[in-house]
Amino acid sequence: MIPIKKGAEIDGMRRSSQVLGRILAELSALVQPGLTTRDLDEAAARMIREAGGKSPFYGYRGFPGHICVSVSEEVVHGIPGKRKLLYGEIVKLDIGIVLNGWVSDTAASIPVGAVAPEIEALLAQTQLALVQGIGQARAGNRLGDISAAIERCVVGAGYTVVREFVGHGVGRSLHEEPQIPNYGRSGSGPLLKAGMTLAIEPMVNLGQAEIRILQDGWTVVTVDGKPSSHFEHTVLVTDGEPEILTGGKSSTLS
Ligand code: MG
Repeated sequence: MIPIKKGAEIDGMRRSSQVLGRILAELSALVQPGLTTRDLDEAAARMIREAGGKSPFYGYRGFPGHICVSVSEEVVHGIPGKRKLLYGEIVKLDIGIVLNGWVSDTAASIPVGAVAPEIEALLAQTQLALVQGIGQARAGNRLGDISAAIERCVVGAGYTVVREFVGHGVGRSLHEEPQIPNYGRSGSGPLLKAGMTLAIEPMVNLGQAEIRILQDGWTVVTVDGKPSSHFEHTVLVTDGEPEILTGGKSSTLS
């Protein structure tokens, strides 16, 4: 069963997501060479606390950070620690908040200083894939329409999609139904309905799609060591335009 939110529940999701979108923007602005991934985690923890919320990641299956911080060849689920950001790398900040019982989830890949043109292009295409996926998040469409739009955008540009990790419903808990793969067939899967809140999150590799998990049990890295890019928004399905809840006030595609 995919939960449907109504009325005050949607307002709760809007509020949680708006606050989270602002925190991610503020956190992104801090990124600079020499910072450790732990520095970013501490800043995020403070921002989440000051907003009156809690991190839904902290302690999740024992995860030791407040956010996931993944650098360059790290795809997702990087544990904040001593790694220092270097000029020319990208850092992926994946952050959630529980605010008044409502969970939202968003992520962005941030350049550390200036990055190579091929990395800039990778980031731009991942954002485009996210927008294309969100564009399919409409009542009456099927889940596979989101997945297929993302895959088409990624593969068409010569990149690869990470298959082992997927987007998800979000709301009362961090991971609700449905799972949202970043590949699939349009016209397949469950029917989308107004009131569904979905965390859509393409993970896109510059090189091969294959990933592995480090000894720490969390950090996902590309097998070929090439960079990976990740963007995510919490989105509300409506009868009209999808509402990008973590994208800033009343954010839609148009
Ligand atoms: Mg997520």
